[in-house]
Amino acid sequence: MAGFFTRAWRVAVPERVRVFLWLVINQALMTNAERHRRHLSDTNLCQVCRSGEETIIHILRDCPAMEGIWRRIVPRRKRREFFEAPLLSWLYTNLGSELDLGEYKWSTCFAMAVWWGWKWRCDNVFGSNRKCRDRVKFVKDIAKEVASAYTKTTNTGGMAQRVERQIAWQPPIQGWWKVNTDGTSRGNPGLATAGGVLRDEQGSWVCGFALNIGICSAPLAELWGVYYGLLIAWERCVPRLIIEVDSEVVVKILHSGISEFHPLSFLARLCYGFFSRDWLVRIRHTYREANRVADGLANYAFSLSLGFHLFAFSPTEILVLLSENVDGSSRARFVNV
Ligand SMILES: [Zn+2]
Repeated sequence: MAGFFTRAWRVAVPERVRVFLWLVINQALMTNAERHRRHLSDTNLCQVCRSGEETIIHILRDCPAMEGIWRRIVPRRKRREFFEAPLLSWLYTNLGSELDLGEYKWSTCFAMAVWWGWKWRCDNVFGSNRKCRDRVKFVKDIAKEVASAYTKTTNTGGMAQRVERQIAWQPPIQGWWKVNTDGTSRGNPGLATAGGVLRDEQGSWVCGFALNIGICSAPLAELWGVYYGLLIAWERCVPRLIIEVDSEVVVKILHSGISEFHPLSFLARLCYGFFSRDWLVRIRHTYREANRVADGLANYAFSLSLGFHLFAFSPTEILVLLSENVDGSSRARFVNV
């Protein structure tokens, strides 16, 4: 599976599409087949064509809505293999394809079509289907656009340039809530804490937590932060959640998975368990400068008793940090461009 994730991670597509591919590889999409299995729905049928069981491969390839698009973009000599492969080998072959179609690689076009296939399906089911007359042209155009944006960034990325940027916490976009979490340890391993804050779509405080863990490693403390962040959001029935963490290691673990023998795998697995539930979760890396409230809560946890502390109102110790976010004040940081 490690090779699989590397393949998905190398495809020239936006980050959100890679995260989506990761969910597909983990077979963590909430299809009707899955809902039915969990007794959340009385039908397992596809609501678009109403003629087949809505499995992942049905939505992304076999539903007539997608099949028609694929027939027009998959090269003729590849069609048979394309339509016969089971889900995982279908993904593996197409995401790893080096086939160059001039303006973009096949893997980019494939991944964008898969992503849009899912979006179209969700729009159909959840009722805001935007008109898109020619989906084949749309997919090709978007693949071109993505490929050229990707080439631009990788061309300048060879010679990383550092520039000063003002970094500030940003409220989530409409319809989304945001959890910022952080973990810290004094020594690795050493006394460790975690903290986090859940804010609604207006950016207002919903609740926060501080966790005094005892002794553990820094990445473990970070992951505990993520776990409790997910938990408090899930308990409040948040429909769409962005999690921001300032540890790249943790973001990588959550995006690409870790081996079951990894010492953090038990906790990573608890976090993955949340991703496959009936809500949308996105994980993002943020800079420390934009994660100061979570950092403040983690530091505050050192002064508290061992265990989990939930705050319906912001503790006075972090009010200053919180008001910085409300004002939108920023801090300078040198970042690679
Ligand atoms: Zn269908």
